Amino acid sequence: MDVKVFDNYTKAGKILKDIFAALRVRPGDKIIDIADTVENEIIRKGAMPAFPANISINEVAAHYTPTPNDEIVVREGDLVKIDLGAHIDGYIADAAATFCSEKNDMITAVQSAVNAAMKSMVPGKKVREVSEVIESEIESKGFRAIANLTGHSLDKFIFHGPVPIPNVRNGINYEFKADDVFAVEPFATDGSGTVKDSEKVYIFSYLKDHNTRLPESRQVLSLAKKDFSSLPFCERWIKGITPLKFDLAVKQLISAGAIQPHPVLREAGRGLVAQAEHTVIVRDKPVVTTV
Ligand code: MN
Ligand code: MN
Repeated sequence: MDVKVFDNYTKAGKILKDIFAALRVRPGDKIIDIADTVENEIIRKGAMPAFPANISINEVAAHYTPTPNDEIVVREGDLVKIDLGAHIDGYIADAAATFCSEKNDMITAVQSAVNAAMKSMVPGKKVREVSEVIESEIESKGFRAIANLTGHSLDKFIFHGPVPIPNVRNGINYEFKADDVFAVEPFATDGSGTVKDSEKVYIFSYLKDHNTRLPESRQVLSLAKKDFSSLPFCERWIKGITPLKFDLAVKQLISAGAIQPHPVLREAGRGLVAQAEHTVIVRDKPVVTTV
């Protein structure tokens, strides 16, 4: 790996590490304030958000990001998953942690799963072996690993690369090679062990160009492609469009296949969900950029 590329990956990772180290999530906090603060910090520290801050509570596993007038407040005992992305010149760090005002065994389970998994991400190791580590760690703590959420390879401006790291046992024989970059992200639940799409969508990403007369659609699509470099975006990031016009624009762009919706994911059995995530550069001694 080119020194400059390595540098960008590790700098982006350190930015997330520092943000998580300073982050406090307390009952009474508005999640929109958390999102604005962490996204501004990513920029202030010299990177760009790779996707909107995901702040997903309790049975919501992922893909919730606050709306511009979001009223959601953290409550006592909530399991608050904060998933952040930062990139420098397209080289992405992806990390997540779960916060709770009380001690929580599910959080301990995903932390020990991610720690065990990232240590095992060395050249020659197979994806299925890392998945096995994750699932058995979560099971040993008395929870289920979520079967249809996975870690993923990363590449320049590619947020979800082609190789997944499932959180459950599987037959994927991909062998890690030196300098592969992967996000590994165990999810645990006391529910059914799968997530499903909800009808709510707050995160989108660019797919292809589309001719449209609606000026708001043109504005959203152009920002999605150029300003957000085809990486995921949300309504908070698009200024000067009313909520009504934004809804109209994204509906039109989704039905034209110009943008992709990333629906809010809920635990299928309405179980609680905890997540931990780090970004790893595969080496004999793995480089965890976000630790
Ligand atoms: Mn993530
Ligand atoms: Mn990820």
